Amino acid sequence: MTRESSLVLFSGGQDSTVCLVWALQRFERVETVGFDYGQRHRVELIQRLKVRERLVSEFPQLADRLGEDHVLDLSALGTISDTALTREREIDFAANGLPSTFVPGRNLVFLTFSAALAYRRGLSRLVGGMCETDFSGYPDCRRNTIDAMEQALRLGLERATPIETPLMSLTKAATWRLADDLGGAALVQLIVEETHTCYLGDRGRLHAWGYGCGVCPACELRSRGWDEFISGRPA
Ligand code: ZN
Repeated sequence: MTRESSLVLFSGGQDSTVCLVWALQRFERVETVGFDYGQRHRVELIQRLKVRERLVSEFPQLADRLGEDHVLDLSALGTISDTALTREREIDFAANGLPSTFVPGRNLVFLTFSAALAYRRGLSRLVGGMCETDFSGYPDCRRNTIDAMEQALRLGLERATPIETPLMSLTKAATWRLADDLGGAALVQLIVEETHTCYLGDRGRLHAWGYGCGVCPACELRSRGWDEFISGRPA
């Protein structure tokens, strides 16, 4: 454990919840930031608070390190993007191969606002759940994009703001395994019950892997990773 602090980009999904616990085990002070950008799955803004509450009550050894939560209004991003995450629109693929769930500039904007917030709060680094392994084809989740952002922030803020991406090279199954390593069955259960991944915001039915419609690309990735995780787990 270092004495450093961090700001976790925390959407309330599976990946950012694993990142939050990862950060709590490493850094003395951890704050969280979420973004309201008019996403269709706004339910994640409610779930992220439930995740924080359960982490505090079920992992008291980490609770002291968990500091303030921040929610930033980025509704302008929703108004300028015509995507399946921000409009009633089919999830499909554009001619350039990118899915219609891709919100152009989203991670770049999130990282810039997060760095500005970390600057004000005196937090030394950012932690994000970007992943280029099992990702949905989002170019702003690649490590080379993140490296370029780090450099832009270092130049623009005249201060280094390292961006930790602990899930970058993990498959979804490996992310479930990491949750198991970090917090055992209790953390896995918390993630199943409280984190939100489904693009359509569906929380009507609890599957073994969590709530969701079961058919959108986010549910599909999450459930496939879960199956792989479970089949590799010692009985
Ligand atoms: Zn879904």
